[in-house]
Amino acid sequence: MAANIIDGKAFAASVRDKVAGHVARLKDDHGITPGLAVVLVGEDPASQVYVRSKGKQTVEAGMNSFEHKLDADTSEADLLAIVDQLNNDPAVHGILVQLPLPGHLNEDLIINSIAPEKDVDGFHISNVGLLGTGQKSMVPCTPLGCLMMLRDYHGSLSGMDAVVIGRSNIVGKPMAQLLLGDSCTVTIAHSRTKDLPEVVRRADIVVAAVGRPEMVPGDWIKEGATVIDVGINRIERDGKNKLVGDVDFASCAERAGAITPVPGGVGPMTIACLLANTVTACCRANGLEEPEGLTA
Ligand code: NDP
Repeated sequence: MAANIIDGKAFAASVRDKVAGHVARLKDDHGITPGLAVVLVGEDPASQVYVRSKGKQTVEAGMNSFEHKLDADTSEADLLAIVDQLNNDPAVHGILVQLPLPGHLNEDLIINSIAPEKDVDGFHISNVGLLGTGQKSMVPCTPLGCLMMLRDYHGSLSGMDAVVIGRSNIVGKPMAQLLLGDSCTVTIAHSRTKDLPEVVRRADIVVAAVGRPEMVPGDWIKEGATVIDVGINRIERDGKNKLVGDVDFASCAERAGAITPVPGGVGPMTIACLLANTVTACCRANGLEEPEGLTA
């Protein structure tokens, strides 16, 4: 079977269009412009690229973008003071502190200092608890993007067997919660899982979020399964730098019914979902109806 390729780039563009449409209505009907503040501490090159891209897409969607670039040696007290200022700024509806933070800063402390209703990354402990108990929360962007693509492709996910490989707080665990919320039977696999190939072979849906290049070969995939590849791994092949996922695309695509490519799959959905979360946060802050299809 040759798998259908789930085009994350096109899907992300459609999410951004929806966001922009909603932003225009918020401006026209209510005089409100959603605002996203991004805080970057230090000069990690990958984070700088990511933050630039977020800022650009925020503005393109018609929203206000506030960037706070701080020196790598910024103290915890100074960073907490900036978060506090953003928490209290009514023009800011979403706050994102770019991770990873330099080693001297306590990430949990900083993330949990963000007002939960402005925590558009969905990492605040209150949002984690709300998601875990099936209540309205801010949902982490990458798993939200995966869920949107799965819903778009399958319609209902009810009763499907899903295997999430990886149990990180930012991808694996919230992904599993979302799939459970959509009535999948969910298995979370990790580095200590016994007989991972057999576990994966049972899955109608495989979400790979491991960080190991091309770890999942095609013969682990059930015929017709849907494969969502979250991994972003930079490798050198034939003297060239290449981006590959956590699944071996060529062999998995031979057995899967549908598969996301890397690049061009999950990656573009993450920022699109950040914009979606900002609009959702803005609507909630103003007691307005939330846009349909932009949250879990
Ligand atoms: P983490 O390193 O935090 O977690 C990796 C998980 O994979 C862990 O739970 C680990 O298990 C598990 N794991 C490691 N080795 C194996 C193995 N051999 N078999 C089974 N499980 C294993 O990574 P993240 O969740 O942060 O990210 C995962 C990948 O997704 C990375 O490539 C990252 O770059 C990418 N990513 C992509 C995003 C996007 O926008 N597309 C956003 C975020 C991440 P254990 O807990 O037992 O150690």
